[in-house]
Amino acid sequence: MAIPTFVDQVTLHVYGGNGGHGCVSIHREKFKPLGGPDGGNGGDGGSVILRVDHRLTTLVDYHRQAHRRATNGEPGRGNHANGARGEDVILPVPPGTVVSDADTGELIADLTGDGAEIVVAQGGRGGLGNAALASPNRKAPGFALLGEKGQTRTINLELKVVADIGLVGFPSAGKSSLVAAISRARPKIADYPFTTLVPNLGVVVAGDTSFTVADVPGLIEGASEGRGLGFDFLRHIERCAAIVHVIDCATYLPGRDPVTDLDVIEAELKAHGGLEDRPRLVALNKIDIPDARQVAEMASGDLHDRGLQIFPISTRSGEGLRELIFAMAQLVKARRDSVPPPPPTRIIIRPKPLDSQAEFSVEREGELWRVRGDKPERWVQQTDFANAEAVGYLADRLNRIGIEDRLLELGAQPGDGVAIGGANAVIFDFAPQMEIGAEILSRRGEDQRLSEARPAARRRRERDRAYHSADEAAEDQPADDDA
Ligand code: GDP
Ligand code: MG
Repeated sequence: MAIPTFVDQVTLHVYGGNGGHGCVSIHREKFKPLGGPDGGNGGDGGSVILRVDHRLTTLVDYHRQAHRRATNGEPGRGNHANGARGEDVILPVPPGTVVSDADTGELIADLTGDGAEIVVAQGGRGGLGNAALASPNRKAPGFALLGEKGQTRTINLELKVVADIGLVGFPSAGKSSLVAAISRARPKIADYPFTTLVPNLGVVVAGDTSFTVADVPGLIEGASEGRGLGFDFLRHIERCAAIVHVIDCATYLPGRDPVTDLDVIEAELKAHGGLEDRPRLVALNKIDIPDARQVAEMASGDLHDRGLQIFPISTRSGEGLRELIFAMAQLVKARRDSVPPPPPTRIIIRPKPLDSQAEFSVEREGELWRVRGDKPERWVQQTDFANAEAVGYLADRLNRIGIEDRLLELGAQPGDGVAIGGANAVIFDFAPQMEIGAEILSRRGEDQRLSEARPAARRRRERDRAYHSADEAAEDQPADDDA
């Protein structure tokens, strides 16, 4: 009898593919020496995507291979040929998989619903080729954009309980003991309420059927109004095939007897809703204690009259457990045969961009001004700093979203260091184009643009010189993927 391995938590390293570089190329034809730019775009890198597959019940596959990489995009080529996209890597995960960032602990997604997807490592965008960069002002760009690096992340996957059989009952009825007695799971067992704050999941094998059993801890009267702890956990059994009442026949607490206990728990389930149609089994527990056996026998009549299937059991002696698990297996099989898999909804949750509000932020950091933002950081990545024209293009882009203005507003002085990005930042010397900051730098009523008549070509030269890359400085920094 093979017991399936049950893995409920794994750490995965995921790598999006890099974007392909754009291509610089000029169309050449006989007798037409000055053809237009025809460098194609680089392809986007593939992404690593998690997708819910309802047929899965474990994360065991990921234990064996903890690194998953999507492929890179291909570079663009001449004659307007765009590079091919990298292929996505789709990782199937069972419903109920909770995804979090292993480094920050931040919750990324709670994946339920067949077909739900989340991109966990975005592929880098391909760089534009010089054909796409051409404009009326720049008819034949002598540069192209570099492909961006793919995102790299370490994520934790945790499988939340999505059980075939849900065990419900008062605290200390013996739910955790039952999970332990019929599966390999070893939940904490104690005789005071609320020891179990997380639902315990066990895999049970009965003949040729294997199924999962979960206990719903701390479900008591009032739980549906948020007083107990169990109400949160009821969602883990929303998809179960059957509900098993575990009833403590050995309690001497006033007001407690098997039938009343069952009614109280049923009222909780009703308040939660959605479980009415699921068949019930009743396990009358602790019959190894003589008094409890008597209580169980007395309650059986009433429960039978309600049409319920009764199983007197002892998780301690093991009595009655075999009958109970085969009855569970039958209900699970019946449901698997009759209920079609849930329809493929495609809820796609994508991680929200770093900076969804403003396009960038600027902060003073010692001697440096640090600029963060999705766009500027991406643009820097796309820039080939060996190419002055590419650097000029970057300067134009940074200017267009107002980074220079903001720096001037904040009091940045020409010559200050400006770092764009995080740990892998590229550092520039700040050399504003004076005409842009004119209103701020000069006294009211004076517009420097009027008094200063630098030829446009000279302004451009000055600016190009200003935005030189400080790659050496960047290389001293440890590699950091969040840059
Ligand atoms: P839960 O709160 O429903 O998960 O209950 P636990 O499994 O933690 O059990 C509560 C207490 O009842 C523990 O002290 C168990 O040892 C005890 N218990 C559980 N099953 C049996 C049983 O069949 N016989 C006896 N005598 N005690 C049991
Ligand atoms: Mg328990």
